[in-house]
This record gives sequence, structure tokens and C-alpha cells, in this order.
Amino acid sequence: MVINFKCRECGRIFDCDVGTVTMPEDSHRPSFEKQIICPKCGQRSMDDVFLTELGQSQLTQATLCFEAEDIFDSEDDELSGFGFYEGECQGCDIFTRLNDLGLCEECAGKVDRDLIRQRDWGYSALAFGCPESKREELRNEIIARYGEKLELMAPKKDAQKRPKKKRKSKRKKSGRKR
Ligand SMILES: [Zn+2]
Ligand SMILES: [Zn+2]
Repeated sequence: MVINFKCRECGRIFDCDVGTVTMPEDSHRPSFEKQIICPKCGQRSMDDVFLTELGQSQLTQATLCFEAEDIFDSEDDELSGFGFYEGECQGCDIFTRLNDLGLCEECAGKVDRDLIRQRDWGYSALAFGCPESKREELRNEIIARYGEKLELMAPKKDAQKRPKKKRKSKRKKSGRKR
């Protein structure tokens, strides 16, 4: 069968016919009948390649009895830092791969934008490495694109502590006096 790989050495994505895929009983890795050959680097071992998303589904379909993700490092994990563990997202309760804060990718993005909206630069991944002079620019950009309202985080508590009811009644009284 043909499986889609990405070479760790040269970064090339290629299809490779690996022949029959079998699952040896004494191993947690599948074994391929033929070698993995990168068009540029030649023969590659399983440790020398990534399984692309396409390759993962190809391999899972072929074997069905094991999780392809357990065998190869997924390229996505390395790039985004996601996939530390699976669980329920703190933000939306979806069961998925989470980052180190227990958030899914989407909620992590929301939190990051919220941090920037609240000017919590130090905690934001987006603002990380952004020069101080550009921070407001970044914030304006995010507000222009996603709006000013916080998406996931609760507004800072001291803003909510105002005793709203008392204020209203005071206003009413003063209104009557006038
Ligand atoms: Zn290569
Ligand atoms: Zn989420």
C-alpha cells in the first residue's frame, strides 16, 4: 500500500509504496514489507520520517487495530505544541487534544486574544517576542479582527465589584430631588 510520509531530513512530503503492512505481535510498531524511500535522501527508517495526516489515516485504515499516532510523532505536535495529552477542554468541554493549559487549540487562541485585549502581554503566546512598541498595534489588529469583547476569559473581577444596585437607587433619589 502507498503511505504518505514527510522526510525529517529534507522536509519533503512523498508517497511511498511500503507493500504489505503487518502488525507483529511482539512489537507496537507495524512492519512494512518494503523500505521507506525518500525521493531525495533514499532509504529511511521509521524514525527518519513523519507520518503526515494523510499517512496516519492511510495507516489506520490499513490496520485498524492500532493508533497510528502512537507509533510516529505527528508533525503537528512538533509545530504547535499541541497533543500533550487528551482530555476535556477547560473552555468548551470538547474531548480532544489539549495544550499544557488544558485547552483545545481553538480555546487557546481565544484566551490568547483575551490576554492581549487585557494587555496581559507576559502570558500571551502571540505577544511573545513582539517588541513593546508594537504591542498596541497587535492589540488593535486583534480587536479590529475579532472584536473588543472577551471571548473566553471572564472580565477582570474588580471591574464587576461595583455595587450596581446601590448606584441605581442613588441615582433615582437624586433624580427625584431635582
Ligand atoms: Zn529526504
Ligand atoms: Zn476548547
